[in-house]
Amino acid sequence: MDSPRNLRPTAEYQAIDAAHHWHPQTDMAEVNARGSRVFAGADGIWLTDTEGERLIDGMSGLWCVNVGYGRERIAEAMYQQAKVLPYYNTFFQCTHPPAAEFAQAIAEVAPEGFSKVFFANSGSEANDTVFRLARVYWDVMGRPRKKTFIARKNGYHGSSVASASLGGMSFMHAQSGLPIAGVHHIGQPYWFGEAEPGESPADFGLRRARELASAIDRIGAENVCAFVAEPIQGAGGVIIPPETYWPEISRICAEREILLVADEVICGFGRTGRWFGSETFGIKPDLMPIAKGMTSGYVPMGGVLVHDRVAGPVIERAGEFAHGYTYSGHPVACAAGLANLAILREEGLVDRVREDIGPYLQERWLKLGEHPLVGEARMVGLIGALELVRDKERRTRFAEEGRTGTEARELSLANGLVMRATRDTLLIAPPLCLTHEEADMIAERAARTLDDLA
Ligand code: PLP
Repeated sequence: MDSPRNLRPTAEYQAIDAAHHWHPQTDMAEVNARGSRVFAGADGIWLTDTEGERLIDGMSGLWCVNVGYGRERIAEAMYQQAKVLPYYNTFFQCTHPPAAEFAQAIAEVAPEGFSKVFFANSGSEANDTVFRLARVYWDVMGRPRKKTFIARKNGYHGSSVASASLGGMSFMHAQSGLPIAGVHHIGQPYWFGEAEPGESPADFGLRRARELASAIDRIGAENVCAFVAEPIQGAGGVIIPPETYWPEISRICAEREILLVADEVICGFGRTGRWFGSETFGIKPDLMPIAKGMTSGYVPMGGVLVHDRVAGPVIERAGEFAHGYTYSGHPVACAAGLANLAILREEGLVDRVREDIGPYLQERWLKLGEHPLVGEARMVGLIGALELVRDKERRTRFAEEGRTGTEARELSLANGLVMRATRDTLLIAPPLCLTHEEADMIAERAARTLDDLA
């Protein structure tokens, strides 16, 4: 790759990009009309574009660059591994040092009982793996009718056919006739947006959790395989459930013998101030799809952490689990992942999110809730949101005036801060290595953006 010094003019990249590069989750008419912003380098929490402008990456790329950019140690580990053994598969009773060591390192930081990792290459593949593995589990348990999944409206689990079906994004479903058969969706624990007037977060959390019980009872527990949900819904708008929600969900799954799947693709690897979001919310899942922070995005990787109570019976009784990818446990990705975990551990980044930088940014972030255009500011660890409103008292949504968070996101970019918008909610999830000064800058730039929006 060219160094930023000998880059071609931005317009040239924009032209060839618009002509040949079909972007994911993007309206290509906009790319053609406006040209894309071209990023050429990054360091720490800072991105640099081809015009030489520096921006704070308030989103860690797509919620993944947990250790921040420019980590020589990860690049070096990948380089060394690519020289020694750039590829070998993990099928047919083969393995290699990085796959064995990375699986062990993940199991070491995982909650008690998660001693097995099944490697994939993305969060979508991780959830596809869940889809197949959970069904195989019930087969070997002698309950083959348990095939139906329950997930949540507005949840996000990926873009493949099965993972997008588990997801509850109606616009994705509408485009291609999803969800596939055997997936049902219940309401999300979105108190700010969906509670009844006067309903407390605690009551709302219980009400939404009990939708799971009703759905299971309607479908019949003997037909239900698993409930799949993110500890905090990320792409859906950083929806942090009320405290009553997860304990009730856990109770319902245990009582009705339903596997509990916590999609840790965003929450995993420190985002919420514990290694896994499940630990922050006291969830005891059976399966945890992981990706993103697993390698801090330096190279694609995903996987499923499987609890022994699921792995044991499947390994003992199913024989071959007929599932896997050419690049499952790719040596270069595992080498990157090992270096990434070493950084997270040695720099104590996860504890730092819980005890230091998380509370520091939260204090400043929650203060933004006093702004007249903010209906609610929320944050756990280093993942947060601002709900934009026109009228704070009456909670008139920003979108009701035909305005969207996209407008705010653009203003934020002009203020040198990358945030993400869903509908009229602004989202933030910066790298875990950010300094106190950088946290101050995030809060200042977000405040300026809100003033510009007014
Ligand atoms: N699960 C969650 C919770 C996600 O946020 C995402 C992506 O944003 C995925 C799964 C899909 O991951 P990928 O894009 O790596 O396939």
